[in-house]
Amino acid sequence: MPVVIDSDCINCDMCVPECPNEAIIMGAAHYVVDLEKCTECEGFYDAPACIPVCPVDCMTLVTDASA
Ligand code: SF4
Ligand code: SF4
Repeated sequence: MPVVIDSDCINCDMCVPECPNEAIIMGAAHYVVDLEKCTECEGFYDAPACIPVCPVDCMTLVTDASA
């Protein structure tokens, strides 16, 4: 169940340093989450650290990784 970043991302970089797994990387047009690396912050935090820092709320925890 990774976090996904939608096209509302303004590339502000706020989320990047929050990720303990360095899973947030620059994609073609905006930042994206490396689905192989995102663990929902398990082992580091109780909840995804990236989502609350995003100023445009474009990060979503998806419950079906195949979606
Ligand atoms: S939920 Fe945690 S591990 Fe996944 S991208 Fe966000 S900060 Fe990184
Ligand atoms: S905090 Fe939100 S808007 Fe900023 S780079 Fe991350 S996903 Fe994009």
